[in-house]
Amino acid sequence: MGERKRNPWRGDFPILGTEVKGKPLVYLDNAATTQKPQVVLDRLFEFFARENANIHRGVYYLSVQATDAYDQARARVADFLNAAMPQEIVFVRGTTEAVNLVARSFAGPRLRPGDEILVTIMEHHANFVPWQLLAEETGAVLKVAPISDAGELELDAFENLFSQRTRIAAFTHVSNSLGTINPVAEMTRMAKSRGVPVVIDGAQAVGHGPVDVQAIGCDFYAFSGHKLFGPYGAGVLYGRKELLDAMPPYQTGGDMIESVSIEKTTFREAPERFEAGTPNISGAIGLAAAIEYLEKTGWKSIRAHEEDLLAYATAKIGAVPGLRIVGTAPEKVGVVSFVIDGVHPHDVGTVLDTEGVCIRAGHHCTMPLMRRLGISGTARASLSFYNTKEDIDDLVTALGKVVSIFGNAGG
Ligand code: PMP
Repeated sequence: MGERKRNPWRGDFPILGTEVKGKPLVYLDNAATTQKPQVVLDRLFEFFARENANIHRGVYYLSVQATDAYDQARARVADFLNAAMPQEIVFVRGTTEAVNLVARSFAGPRLRPGDEILVTIMEHHANFVPWQLLAEETGAVLKVAPISDAGELELDAFENLFSQRTRIAAFTHVSNSLGTINPVAEMTRMAKSRGVPVVIDGAQAVGHGPVDVQAIGCDFYAFSGHKLFGPYGAGVLYGRKELLDAMPPYQTGGDMIESVSIEKTTFREAPERFEAGTPNISGAIGLAAAIEYLEKTGWKSIRAHEEDLLAYATAKIGAVPGLRIVGTAPEKVGVVSFVIDGVHPHDVGTVLDTEGVCIRAGHHCTMPLMRRLGISGTARASLSFYNTKEDIDDLVTALGKVVSIFGNAGG
């Protein structure tokens, strides 16, 4: 247990001290969701135990306090993304809702038959299906940028797909299936130099370091709080203020209006315009606590540990007989996807589960990508800073069990 004990952050996450089926939990599914540190759990408890009230319209102490905490959460997220102002941060349910909001509210009204939407083949369904549906509805055309066999975006091909008709480019910062980090600043420059607005899916990027939306130059950036060590149901859409203010509401109801009469309703500016109804107040506050925790922990040491771990995991996992790593781009976060000759990824996951090792198996909501790679799915280990080399060793030992059970089924 030495190595696990030496990791300075594991003790901050109560779940990591638990056992599964009598074995220490080896949690390697951080791309699906991250575990929550005690400080986030404490903050949620504190809020419900002592501060809970609905925000905005209350004139009493508790409501004013809750409103302040919610506003501070927005400011903290703005700081984390280096947004120009807190009003550029819209709280939504998660990445999925953020992308749908941009597709419906920003892109939809601008699209005419024959216009083009540019995405990449490595998109999660959350940043693929909304664009595909919108294209079907408007008569627009979905253009899909290719990747190399290693899982790297073909940047020249991406650039060549821009045309006079391109109205929006939507792409992921980091691939959830492959770990590939895309050169989003360069991709954004390619789009913006042609006057094309950019939406970035940051779901897999934020857990590995802060993001600078102004340096990237994008118009929209989406992420989910639960992948950033925060609660479920609290996600973020960053949007440039002038764009948000010019967009029609996505949903309507309370809290997002300026005035309502029988004849006419007028709407507030962003971000309230996009936060109809009671928002996820506790979720936003919990997310802010997670960001505060990460800043105190220090992104530099988080990154250094993750890079070391990825190199170790790639070498160790890659050495398992009959196993092939899928996604070998030079720029990657700690995601190791793999296939084993003759063994279905779900069988890999099921055997690992008997050893207390949590990984994900399947298409990872990237079916077009899987088809491009000529496979139905992968098994995927995804790392975070609280993982250790011991976790990787346990995974590799369990993979040995997979290989011995299934033998050389694939020949
Ligand atoms: N995009 C990417 C790259 C993802 O990995 C995920 C989550 N797996 C999503 C979007 C969707 O996030 P959520 O389900 O939290 O909306």
